[in-house]
Amino acid sequence: MVTISVREPYKLEIDDRPVPQPGPGEVAIRVRRAGICGSDMHILHGSNPFAVYPRVIGHEFAGVIEALGEGVSSLAIGEHVVADPVISCGTCYPCRIGRSNVCANLQVIGVHCDGGFRAVAIVPEANAVKVSSKLRLDVAALAEPLAVAANVLWRTACTNDDVVLIYGAGTVGITVLQMAKMKGARCIIADIDADRLVRAREFGADVVINSREQSVAEVVAPELGGLGPSIVIDGAGIPSLLEEACRVAAPAGRIGLLGFSPGPCNISQQEIVRKELTLVGSRLNRRFIPEVIGWLEAGLLRPEAMITQTFDARDARAAFDLVEKHPEQTLKVQLVFS
Ligand SMILES: [Zn+2]
Ligand SMILES: [Zn+2]
Repeated sequence: MVTISVREPYKLEIDDRPVPQPGPGEVAIRVRRAGICGSDMHILHGSNPFAVYPRVIGHEFAGVIEALGEGVSSLAIGEHVVADPVISCGTCYPCRIGRSNVCANLQVIGVHCDGGFRAVAIVPEANAVKVSSKLRLDVAALAEPLAVAANVLWRTACTNDDVVLIYGAGTVGITVLQMAKMKGARCIIADIDADRLVRAREFGADVVINSREQSVAEVVAPELGGLGPSIVIDGAGIPSLLEEACRVAAPAGRIGLLGFSPGPCNISQQEIVRKELTLVGSRLNRRFIPEVIGWLEAGLLRPEAMITQTFDARDARAAFDLVEKHPEQTLKVQLVFS
């Protein structure tokens, strides 16, 4: 079966391997669609501090249950599923308080263990989330990035009272935008790429800001009667944006961070205390995929247009090249396994 792996940084391999069998408590998923994520690119480039090589990458995938390991009772062969890449221990402190995505013994499928860029993937039973056979599997494969957006909006307590400023109209920014619009919030999105901003409008942005031409701080200042946005999401992962986020946020505002940059930044304690700002990190998702699937099945989220390109899995190299060289042309590139 076709398998896409990273042998070591910068060495992408596409080869044929025997079909793996599920062990006790595991299921085999016949993968149909798998999305390429920024973090797959980081593993390829050796810049993901958690990756262990060699690794079959891919953590955004959907398919059909092909085989059940011993003791699996919640799923049946032929059912459609999407993978939740977060494997948690269930007993440590964060797990006990419902924060399994920051489990002390966290394993991420496609990062710490082999992922979904293969014709048949093996995952623990708890990590295969059932979806209706009526839901398109390409759409189901978007559930993981949407769950990442759901997680940061949960961390920042987003409601329909909020004005959300999103930095970055790439995949993260657009998923956060869709989720915040679903919650009824007013959304402003800033990016330096004009084409990305056109797409952001199509996904429902109320205001778009080309931050090369306009000052984000000036544009958002009149929001909420001159207080500024109540939620700021850094979907671009640029440390210096945090300074501006603290400056432009309304009193009682919340700032959600998703980036993994190790670089420090200068933020004023005074700004945080004066306005009682809440700064939160958001990593992966805290078991939001079942909820996201419910929203997709109910038609509350319609992310189909995020799939900008598809490639046959055997042409994965071309897909990775596109994401690397022309990220502005892509939102979500998916691999098709047949
Ligand atoms: Zn991802
Ligand atoms: Zn745990």
